[in-house]
Formats: sequence, C-alpha cells, structure tokens
Amino acid sequence: MTEQEQIEALDRDDPLAAKRDEFVLPEHTVYLDGNSLGCLTIAARERAHEVVETQWGRDLIKSWNQHGWIDLPVRIGEKIARLIGAAPGQTICCDSTSVNLFKLLSVALQMQSERCIILSQKDNFPSDIYMAEGLRHLLGDNRVQLSLCEEDEIETAMHDKVAVLMLTQVNFRTGRLLNMQRLTERAHALGILVIWDLAHSAGVLPVELDACRVDFAVGCGYKYLNGGPGAPAFAYVAQRHLKHLHQPLSGWMGHSSPFQFDAYYTPAPDISQLLAGTPPVISMSVLDAALEVYRDIDTAQLRRKANALSELFRTLVQRSPELQDLQLVSPTLPQQRGAQLAYRHPQAYEICQALIAHRVIADFRAPDLLRVGFSPLPLRFIDISTSVTILTKIMRSESWRHPQFNSRSKVT
Ligand SMILES: *Cc1c(COP(=O)(O)O)cnc(C)c1O
Repeated sequence: MTEQEQIEALDRDDPLAAKRDEFVLPEHTVYLDGNSLGCLTIAARERAHEVVETQWGRDLIKSWNQHGWIDLPVRIGEKIARLIGAAPGQTICCDSTSVNLFKLLSVALQMQSERCIILSQKDNFPSDIYMAEGLRHLLGDNRVQLSLCEEDEIETAMHDKVAVLMLTQVNFRTGRLLNMQRLTERAHALGILVIWDLAHSAGVLPVELDACRVDFAVGCGYKYLNGGPGAPAFAYVAQRHLKHLHQPLSGWMGHSSPFQFDAYYTPAPDISQLLAGTPPVISMSVLDAALEVYRDIDTAQLRRKANALSELFRTLVQRSPELQDLQLVSPTLPQQRGAQLAYRHPQAYEICQALIAHRVIADFRAPDLLRVGFSPLPLRFIDISTSVTILTKIMRSESWRHPQFNSRSKVT
C-alpha cells in the first residue's frame, strides 16, 4: 500500500467517521482550530433557527416553560457531566470559564479560612491567573496570596499553607496533560482543595472528576464542545461540597426560589446556586443542540482518534526534511498531551498566516508558537496529510515571507 492508501484506510476503518456528516464544514478547508473555536453542527444550526424563529419569535415569553428555557443550565450541565465523569447534580452550565473560576475560587477560599495561598502553574491560561489576582485585589493580600510554579514542580510546590490548587489540565500552549488523579490526591493529603480547568479536556479526552475526588472544576463550551463563539461555560462542584456552597455572585437565578421575589437572598441548596443572572437562552440552546453529537460515543473513543490524528501529524512533520526547523514543544508521547501540538519557530506568525491563506486553519500563540488542534469528530486522517503537505510547500518555497502574511489583526 502507498502512504496515501494507508491514510485512506485509516479513514475507512474509523468508527467515528460518520460523525463528520453531522457538521457544517467550509469546503476545501482543513480546520485545525477546534481547540479554540469548535465547528458548527447541523443540529446547532437548526436549533439556532428554531430558538429565534419559533421559540422567541412566535412563542415569546411562554417559551420559558413551554420550551424549557428555564431548565437549560441544569439540562446542559447534565449532558456535559457525562463527558467529565460527574454523577448527576454537580454540573451546571452558566457564565464564562473566567467568571465560574472566580465563583469557585471564592467558595474554596471560604472553606479554607485558615489558609490564603492559591497555587497555580505559571503558564496557566492568563485569564485564570488574572481572576485569582482580581480576588486578591478584592479581599486583600492578607486573605489571598498567589503562588505560581513551573509545571514540573507542582508537587514540590504544595505545602500545608496552600488553600487551593488551581490547575488547567491541558496546557493551552504545549498541550501537556497533567495527571489529575495523582495531583488531586497529593493536594488532598496536604488539606488543599483542588480546582481543575477543563477548557482543553472536556469533549476530547476521558475526565473522571468523581473518581479522582476532584473538589471543583470549570470548563469551556466553545472549544471541543462546539457550542459556538462565546458559548456559556460550565462549573462542577463535588456533591460533598454543595452544602458549604456560598458563591459571591448571589443573583436571583441562584436563589432557592427566584420567583418568590423575596427581599433577601436565600441560596439554592443545590448546584443551581451557581447561577447568577438570566441564562443566555440563544447561546445555551445552541450549545445544548451541539452536545447532541456526543450522545452515542464515549470519551475513550474520542481520545483514541484524537491521539491517532495528532500522532499522524507529528510523524509526518518529523519525516519531512523541509519541516526540521519546527521545534515540537508538546510532549512526544500522546498519553502525555491533550489533543493539540505546538511547534516553535521564530516566524510562527507568518507561517500560520500562510497556512490560513491556503485554507489550513491553525493558530498562533505569542511569542513564537504555531498551534494545531485535532478535534476528532470533524477531522479525517486525510485532512492531516493534506495540511502537512501544504505546510511543507510553504516552508520549501518560503512563501510565508510574503509581506501580506506579516500584518497582525486584533485577534490572533
Ligand atoms: C479558553 C480558556 C479559557 C476561556 O475563558 P473565557 O472566560 O471563556 O474567556 C479559560 N481558561 C482556559 C485554560 C482556557 O483555555
């Protein structure tokens, strides 16, 4: 078999191949950015139409009951729960990842009245660290301190003054995957509560929040979950902590009975306390429909295919003489990374722009990383070889030197 035939065989034998047909994909495009903004599904497109035309347009305010708008946060939370190893009653869809992190950091700190240190990885996604800084600003330096460590040194950086360990499971740049079970266990042994950010894990690899006895988690709706730009995020609180829950953004939707319109706040005794204001019904409905693509598959299948895709990409790059200047900064072993690869190159920005001009959508992360993500449902193996062929042409011809690839937009 030629290499081309081998790759075609991978697609033929792929048990998830038919899932691609559930997506609306631009023609002649290889999309390697599902880790940043997931693709549109047909179901999501139809729901967007339905929620605007029929539910909002025709049924108006009756839709809160008639179309179950009011239950969306809990209903979507339970759909996501299945993907992150959470039993019912602990996961809810609301707000953004950043806002959910703020709420859960506050809750965790309140539970640790004798401790004030938030420990996180130095190269965590900046917003996660910024939210911790915001909390420090609000509560004061004697109540909140922030300690940042290298990813290799998380275990040694833990000690019995740390209140909360806040970690992102898959590094947004390198794709490195942290060991949730081990780090959570170590933290608990020292009396530390743990918050995991699943932005680059949910919907692409098996996560076992309950089995790992994780305390809190947050994650993103618009990456692998395909909820659309700015889709609402999710939050998880372990059952055993629900009784201590006292989140600071005490809006009416988190009240125990919002439609009593009581003068004072009584927190809901369950996960719905994490709601603050009215849910964004249009984007939630779209996310709800997008999650349908996961209805009959499990996360081990997703993991298997994502690993196979990223390994194919890595191997093809490694074998191409023209691509030797691209330095892999992701772990070489697929078990040690999420579903993305990052390559360092001084002209990563220009190379990325040239790829996009050739309809291979990757992204650039400052200062010098070319990042490619492998969303397992819309991608085929043949897309991977196409993208490496195009990358090779760009590097061989040095077409990235063209001035048009050098100008920067607001969003990179
Ligand atoms: C994408 C991402 C976020 C995004 O947060 P928003 O509040 O949705 O903007 C947060 N944390 C991590 C680790 C991410 O990768």
